[in-house]
Amino acid sequence: MSILVVGSIAIDSVETPYGKEPNAYGGSALFFSAAASPFAPVSVVGVVGNDFDFAEIDFLKSRNVNFDGVKVEDGKTFRWGGKYHKNMNHRDTLFTDLNVFETFSPQIPDAYRSSEFLFLANIHPQLQLDVLAQVDKPRLTVLDTMNFWISGAKSLLMEVVRQVNVLIINDQESFELTGIPNIFESARALMQEGPEVIIIKKGEHGSVLLTKDDVFLAQAYPVATVTDPTGAGDSFAGGFVGYLAAKNSLDKKTLREAVVNGGIVASFTVEDFSFRRLAQITEKDVHARTKKLKHMVTF
Ligand code: AMP
Repeated sequence: MSILVVGSIAIDSVETPYGKEPNAYGGSALFFSAAASPFAPVSVVGVVGNDFDFAEIDFLKSRNVNFDGVKVEDGKTFRWGGKYHKNMNHRDTLFTDLNVFETFSPQIPDAYRSSEFLFLANIHPQLQLDVLAQVDKPRLTVLDTMNFWISGAKSLLMEVVRQVNVLIINDQESFELTGIPNIFESARALMQEGPEVIIIKKGEHGSVLLTKDDVFLAQAYPVATVTDPTGAGDSFAGGFVGYLAAKNSLDKKTLREAVVNGGIVASFTVEDFSFRRLAQITEKDVHARTKKLKHMVTF
């Protein structure tokens, strides 16, 4: 089943207690694609500047990721800078330079309009609305966002929330969005806005999946050393949507498995900077880790 992702393509500058990477390729759409592509083909819509080196993402092309929808504009690629301290659950955004992203207006190529799975990765909510207006009714629309847009464009973001089937959000962001400092209450309030599925991520403590008739608590895979958490959220989404697309099912059991799969894929992302670790993994590696996690949580 085909997946369409629209989101940021970035050159990040990341600093963690394990090192500094001033030119780490990333962005929500690329992390998502790196995470979803071991499971299903992905088409990307986004924009880069003429400083973007496509050789850095060659591995994605070999995994059936299509970049026909990526525009190259005169100017600089979107750049984001982040610094993590000893407690890697918190990060400081050092800068957000939109560059070519500032005037980006997503154009969905005709061939992608009928994609069955749509992932609205982290970008301005107005752009997410523009994308929704251009696609034929996808089987599943999944939304991600971040604090930057919650504080900067909350009412537009709520318009997007009302139009999607699945909202993926972390605990802090859900509190900021709803004003309710409790995961389950906050998720229920968000569900009342429209999405049938709410997934709240809790970092190293896993995630919670909520639907009208199901509550599922997923543990995170314990990683020995978290080197760089950047992209964990987008990778979670990639593992989640990729799994659903591969199984071509949205039933209760598959949704639960997809959430676990998202967490496992994200556990690889954080082991190295950028998508270096994701570039190495295959479906087999993901299955092996899932089996280990199952053993850890069964009693
Ligand atoms: P995550 O760690 O999953 O939240 O995603 C990190 C990625 O989000 C980085 O690669 C950034 O380039 C990208 N990013 C950071 N800020 C923004 C923003 N305001 N809009 C879109 N993407 C962003």
